[in-house]
Amino acid sequence: MNIRQTTSTIAHWINGKTVPGASARCAPVYNPALGEVQSEVLLGTAADVDAAAGAASRAFPAWAELPPLRRARVMFRFKDLIEKHHDALAACITREHGKVFSDARGEVTRGLEVVEFACGAPQLLKTAHSDNVGGGIDNWHLRQPLGVTAGITPFNFPFMVPLWMIPMALVTGNAFILKPSERDPSVSLMIAELLQQAGLPDGVFNVVQGDREAVEALLHHPEVQAVSFVGSTPIAEMIHREAGSRGKRVQALGGAKNHLVVMPDANLEQAVDALVGAAYGSAGERCMAISVAVAVGDVADRLVHALAERARGLLVKDGMEGDAEMGPLVTAQHKSRVEHYIEEGIREGASLVVDGRGLRVPGREGGYFLGGCLFDQVRPTMRIYREEIFGPVLAVVRVKDFAEALDLVNRHEFGNGVSIYTADGGLAREFGRRVRVGMVGINVPIPVPMAWHSFGGWKRSLFGEHHAYGEEAVRFYTRYKSIMQRWPESIAKGAEFAMPTMK
Ligand code: NAD
Repeated sequence: MNIRQTTSTIAHWINGKTVPGASARCAPVYNPALGEVQSEVLLGTAADVDAAAGAASRAFPAWAELPPLRRARVMFRFKDLIEKHHDALAACITREHGKVFSDARGEVTRGLEVVEFACGAPQLLKTAHSDNVGGGIDNWHLRQPLGVTAGITPFNFPFMVPLWMIPMALVTGNAFILKPSERDPSVSLMIAELLQQAGLPDGVFNVVQGDREAVEALLHHPEVQAVSFVGSTPIAEMIHREAGSRGKRVQALGGAKNHLVVMPDANLEQAVDALVGAAYGSAGERCMAISVAVAVGDVADRLVHALAERARGLLVKDGMEGDAEMGPLVTAQHKSRVEHYIEEGIREGASLVVDGRGLRVPGREGGYFLGGCLFDQVRPTMRIYREEIFGPVLAVVRVKDFAEALDLVNRHEFGNGVSIYTADGGLAREFGRRVRVGMVGINVPIPVPMAWHSFGGWKRSLFGEHHAYGEEAVRFYTRYKSIMQRWPESIAKGAEFAMPTMK
C-alpha cells in the first residue's frame, strides 16, 4: 500500500481520526485570491470508501439505539462549537473558495440553523398513535433510521451544504459518510473534529476525500443505503440513476438558472440592490444566484442603466479584505469557462454592457478575479441564457408583459429559485402560484428556505422525491414502519382466514 501524508495533505476522516488513505493520488487545493496551490487533498479509492463504510456500519447500531434526546444533545454541543469557531470556519471557507469573509460567515450561519433545527429531534421523530382502532387494537408508526448514508457535496458551499445533510441524517439515527468537493475540502475535517468534540461516537461520521472514483465507490457500496447529492445537473442525474438502480434511496439537487422578474411598478432601487447582490455575491457561484433579470415593459432602460453603474463599481478583492464585495472565482479553469461564455454571448449577438474581463487586483495579480459582467438584449435561444454559467454574469432579457415573463421562467429547463419585484400583491400571488419553480421570492432576491422548511428545485434542478433539510429530511433519512398491537386476547382468538377488518 502506498501511503502518503504530509502536513499540507488534507486526509480522510475515518472512525474518529484522520487517515492517510489507500492511494497516493492527490489533487492540488488553491487559494483562489492568490492563484497559488496551498495544500493537496487525497483522492479516495474504493478501499477508502470501504474502510469508511465499515466504520459507519459498525457504529450504526449503538447510535441508532440511543434515545433521540441523547442524539439531540450532541447537536446542542455541536451548535455551541460552531458558534465558538464561527470565524475560523468562515476563514477556512474563504481561503479555499474565495468568497468574501462576511459571506462565508453567513454560510456558516445558514448551516448552523439546520443544526438548531436538528436539536428538536425528539419532536421531529414523534409520530402519530391511533388508540383503540378496534377490538383492543392500537396502531402507530415509527420512523426508523436507514443505516449508512452518504452525502456528496459541491464546492460552492463547503460548509452549508454538508450541513443540510449531516445533522438531519445523524439525529434521525443514521451513520454518515461525507464526500466533499475536492476544490475546498479543509472545512470537512473541521466539521468532523467539532462533531467529535461534541460527543459523537467515532465511526458515526466519516469523510472520504476525493473525486469521481470515491463517488462511484459510494454508489456501488452495498452498505450505503441512501445518497444525498448536491452539484451540477449532469452529475445529479447520473447519481440519481446509478444509486437508484442499486436500490438506494437518493435525492440529487442539480444546477440552476434563476430569474428575477422586475415589474414596471417595482421599487427600482430595491430591485437593483437585490439584483446586484444576488448576481454578483459570491462571484455568482451560488445555486440560488440570480443570473437572469427579466425586465418587463418600460422598466428595461432604467434598469440596465442602474445595473451597469453598480456592476462597474463593485469592489472586487481578496475576500479577506474587510470591504470586499466580491472575491475571485474558485479556480483558473472555472474562470476560463466563465470567460468562454462571455465570448459566446458576444458571438451570439447579446450586448455586453459591462465587461469584467481583464480585471487586475493590485497585490493579487495571480488571483482568479473577474469583474461583474452585464449583458443586455439577451434572447432565450442564446447559450448564455439557457446554460448555467456560475460566474458574475447577469443577463437582461426584455419582455413586454407579466404573461411573457411567467412563460419565459416556466419554459426554462431549470426550476431552482425565482423572484419577482412588484408593488402589486395580486400579481405577486398569481406568480407564486403559477410559476414552475421550487423556491419563490416575492420582493426577496434569494429565497433560501429556513431550516424548518425545505430546500429544493423543480424540473432539472432536482432528481428524487425529497427536498433537502426540514421535515423532508426526516422523511428521507428514515423508513416508515406501522405497528398494530393487541394484548392479550389475540393469543386466545385462533386463526382468522378473512381479510382483517375492524368491527
Ligand atoms: P459538480 O457537479 O462538479 O461536483 C459536485 C460533486 O460531485 C463534487 O463532490 C464532485 O467531486 C463530484 N463529481 C464531479 N464530477 C463527478 C463525476 N463525473 N462523477 C462523480 N462525481 C463527480 O458541482 P460543483 O462544480 O462542485 O458545484 C457547482 C454546481 O452545484 C452548480 O451546478 C450549482 O448550481 C450546483 N449546486 C446546486 C445546489 C442546489 O441546491 N440545487 C446547491 C449548490 C450547488
